[in-house]
Amino acid sequence: MNSLFKSITVSKEIRQERLNVCFGCEFFTALGTCGMPVIGEDVEVGGKKVHLCGCVMAVKTKFKYASCDAGKWKKAQIQLGDVNTVRKIRKFLKKLDYLPSSKISSAMVMEMYSFHNQTHGSKTKNSNCTPCILQAIHELKTWSNQIEGNA
Ligand code: SF4
Repeated sequence: MNSLFKSITVSKEIRQERLNVCFGCEFFTALGTCGMPVIGEDVEVGGKKVHLCGCVMAVKTKFKYASCDAGKWKKAQIQLGDVNTVRKIRKFLKKLDYLPSSKISSAMVMEMYSFHNQTHGSKTKNSNCTPCILQAIHELKTWSNQIEGNA
């Protein structure tokens, strides 16, 4: 496991504690998601309206930046060194925002996969498949948006 991925994920014990809370939660579904899969749903918790994310909890509970939408478990802190990497990734994604997909160079694709591998623990080196590249960029953007506020 690479060091950035390791630094943004929690220990097995913390993940299990989080999962145990989910297993006992009224919003945990038979599909293993928090509320309605993918789209989530609005519920009331302690008199307040809360939007459940619809995420697969076996995945979401791994990440330090993740937290329970209903406040049943909290996010964990990411270290300063990793914050610099997160900033680099955001800067890179901003560059991509202004480029049509036909203008993304192979060097940028390689850089994108390097960031994607660091943040998702995947091992892809490169790809010529445009939908695959766009999907990986989308996943990296989702990761960056989710981590917002914690780094
Ligand atoms: S994240 Fe929170 S609200 Fe969602 S299933 Fe787990 S404990 Fe319940």
